[in-house]
Amino acid sequence: MNAASYDCIIVGAGVVGSLIARALSRYRLRILLLDKASDVGEGTTKANTAIVHAGYDAKPGTLKAKLNVAGNRLFDQLCAELDVEFERCGTYVVGLGAEDWTTLQELYRRGQANGVSGLSLIDAAEMRRREPAVSDKTVGALYAATGGIVDPFGLCIGAAENAVLNGVKLALETEVTDFLREGQRIVGVVTNRGKFLGRWVIIAAGLWADDLLHKTGVDGFRITPRKGEYFVLDKVAADLVHSVLFPCPTPISKGILVTRTIHGNVMLGPNANDVASKEDLSTTAAGLNEVMAGALRLVPGLDPRMVIRTFAGLRAAGNTGDFRIEIPQGLYGLLVLAGIESPGLTAAPAIAEYVVEMLREAGLRLVERPDYNPLRQGIPRFSRLSRAEQEALIARDPRYGHVICRCETVTEGEIVAACHAPIPARTYDALKRRTRVGSGRCQGAFDTPLVIQIMARELGLSPLEITLKGGRSRFLLRETKEVSA
Ligand SMILES: Cc1cc2nc3c(=O)[nH]c(=O)nc-3n(C[C@H](O)[C@H](O)[C@H](O)COP(=O)(O)OP(=O)(O)OC[C@H]3O[C@@H](n4cnc5c(N)ncnc54)[C@H](O)[C@@H]3O)c2cc1C
Repeated sequence: MNAASYDCIIVGAGVVGSLIARALSRYRLRILLLDKASDVGEGTTKANTAIVHAGYDAKPGTLKAKLNVAGNRLFDQLCAELDVEFERCGTYVVGLGAEDWTTLQELYRRGQANGVSGLSLIDAAEMRRREPAVSDKTVGALYAATGGIVDPFGLCIGAAENAVLNGVKLALETEVTDFLREGQRIVGVVTNRGKFLGRWVIIAAGLWADDLLHKTGVDGFRITPRKGEYFVLDKVAADLVHSVLFPCPTPISKGILVTRTIHGNVMLGPNANDVASKEDLSTTAAGLNEVMAGALRLVPGLDPRMVIRTFAGLRAAGNTGDFRIEIPQGLYGLLVLAGIESPGLTAAPAIAEYVVEMLREAGLRLVERPDYNPLRQGIPRFSRLSRAEQEALIARDPRYGHVICRCETVTEGEIVAACHAPIPARTYDALKRRTRVGSGRCQGAFDTPLVIQIMARELGLSPLEITLKGGRSRFLLRETKEVSA
């Protein structure tokens, strides 16, 4: 068979697949990371609450509990190595009635059992002193000092870029449609871009893990898409909350929360409703009303007029309640990750290490590469720099003095850098995740035409070829005066 051959093929370049690729790139292995989308992190990784959970939620003894706590501990070093924004701002579960105290105490005990450090129960006065906007119905809270907020796209892009810099081959817009088998051994994948041979195939396909697995004949995995809807508020609301405020959890979710984001917005959500389609990212009036009502219970002073954006994400809810990371019985050469719902983002770095150890135990020879480099430098973030640093950057490249996105102060220099990064931004959404262009109050209303022109120039494309997120999502359907001029 005339197909490229790899030691490991990773299906899915979300945060889990990308961190696995990075962890494996430390060794002398030929690795292929592939995704059906036009960018890394286009699945659940791009639409979640972006919280690095402390680890008191999951039932003691589960894989979720173990990998949540272990993953949380890895974030400081990982984000420093990958140049990703991360802050341990602390998180609170806020009790809003006498009956909530029992839940708070239960969560505290669970956290202790899971080995979470920095947990404390605080009374209502202390809670209101720390977060004055919280409801005056609060009876106190569980505080988790190790909880934090992260840039989830940044983490995925950083991990994937670092993997690529360490020799991993990335194939986007490459969809796995079937598997190659020799008896009981999986020996590769069939994709829309041809066949690839692999000694190990690792399914990290999020919502689609069960569908892919069924193609290998393995049953017993079922994933239900569970939607969560959100509001993003303008940065002028940023003074309202300084950390992460959860209500007491429900049986199927951690509840509708109010959180500051790493980029300085306030975010409300998510609710939790099972839906039929794995592609249904719509928001509904009923769902958003539910989110707003939940957020107002926690922070009554929220002003709904501050909303600048709504969005939805889909949890890959599994049928066992725990993460499933397995080499299915009776098959060789296949490792599957399924049901990686929340706290999957937090757990992802520990999941990657866990997978490496599983592969080692299953016989994959892991020899360290002397030239492995764990460091990756992201593109400059102009708005985050000091005045002196900004001036130095502009002196080096005057394009950093040309602000394109006024709401988020994103410069032409950053757009150019993102178009030429190790994994270049080839769509508007990919650029947005890398630079924050179009993420502010005007949501791109002022700058999109200019951004399209710069992208087209840098990528050597016609403006007609610039898409929102690949495929047929073009901005321009025919030539305009500016394009043809
Ligand atoms: C509403 C919501 C809130 C959440 N909040 C948090 C939180 O605050 N903290 C936290 O820790 N976790 C949170 N999570 C969970 C977290 O977002 C996920 O666990 C994590 O993003 C899962 O990453 P992944 O790489 O497994 O999946 P994904 O990001 O979905 O990646 C899977 C990839 O596989 C690709 N793929 C699928 N099928 C194929 C195929 N056939 N061929 C090729 N590629 C394929 C997809 O395109 C996709 O890019 C939340 C999730 C949701 C939905």
